Amino acid sequence: MTSQPRERVVTLIRGDGIGPEVTDAVLAILDAAGAPLDFEDAVVGRKAEEEEGDPLPARVIESIRRNRVALKAPVGTPIGKGFSSVNVRLRQTLELFANLRPVKTVPGIPARYTGVDLVVIRENTEDLYSGLEHVVVPGVVESLKIITEVASTRIARFAFEYAKREGRRRITAVHKANIMKLSDGLFLDCFRRVAAGYPEIAADDRIVDAACMRLVLNPDIFDVLLLENLYGDIVSDLAAGLVGGLGLVPGANLGREAAVFEAVHGTAPDIAGTGQANPTALLLSAVLMLRHIDLPTYAETIERALLATFAAGIRTPDVGGTATTSEFAKEVARRLT
Ligand code: ATP
Repeated sequence: MTSQPRERVVTLIRGDGIGPEVTDAVLAILDAAGAPLDFEDAVVGRKAEEEEGDPLPARVIESIRRNRVALKAPVGTPIGKGFSSVNVRLRQTLELFANLRPVKTVPGIPARYTGVDLVVIRENTEDLYSGLEHVVVPGVVESLKIITEVASTRIARFAFEYAKREGRRRITAVHKANIMKLSDGLFLDCFRRVAAGYPEIAADDRIVDAACMRLVLNPDIFDVLLLENLYGDIVSDLAAGLVGGLGLVPGANLGREAAVFEAVHGTAPDIAGTGQANPTALLLSAVLMLRHIDLPTYAETIERALLATFAAGIRTPDVGGTATTSEFAKEVARRLT
């Protein structure tokens, strides 16, 4: 007799824009797969601010700390004014210091390249995302870029441990240490010091602008990329473009006490409510989550069904198809075996 695994409670953030649509699609697939998950809804963002006076209520942080895992759809951030980013606050409060974004060619999806298999690792807690900005005098603002030895060493160690565990052969640190000699120089020094302890993994580095050109010309030369927060944000979107776009690329924010799984994409207000959103990125984030909480069989079943759906030519419009979000989810669910 095989025993059913115990239900795992997961905090769920449905998000804004296309968030609720892709969340519904992913929940339907997880449910059809029989994944033993119980979701605890948590409201953040504008609605939470209106109702509770804080876009990231303490209750939500407590829920994630208690469950140690969350599945999160994109949450909007007002541009130039209003509350500060819930996404950034969440990562900083829970010390989700590592952002992991595997970028892989998806068979059956039209893209410029084949055989892309990269992992982007982004430091998640500091850099220009520290939110330290002020007006020096009218017309002049200063934004502080914070880079510390502790956080740079921590993310470098994470990257090498990840590479070792996953059989990756090379890590490239991406920086602008020729210009930002102190801040990016420190990041690079920490990387090199940590690399010395992992002689079995090749370590090199590239300047961020040159790395972007190389990525576009020939992504095959890269394996794992390690970046500070801002470069990581930008290069993640660039890397997503190599394999067919933001609708496909998953992500994980990992810390010592919790993990939050979310797609690389944002709220996509331009297509919200139209049924065109691709739920693949959030679905693959859920797949990463299932592996993280030790439910690999469900992860594999879902991944197989997703690939079978693409192989049958069923796709959402962002990747050249005509299926709506919910039609696509139904097709994936139908192929779960
Ligand atoms: P935000 O400010 O929340 O980051 P944004 O529109 O600036 O929103 P994204 O949401 O990442 O940035 O979207 C960038 C582009 O990619 C948009 O044209 C959007 O429609 C498209 N896009 C993003 N995610 C998806 C998805 N899941 N399915 C289809 N298209 C997507």
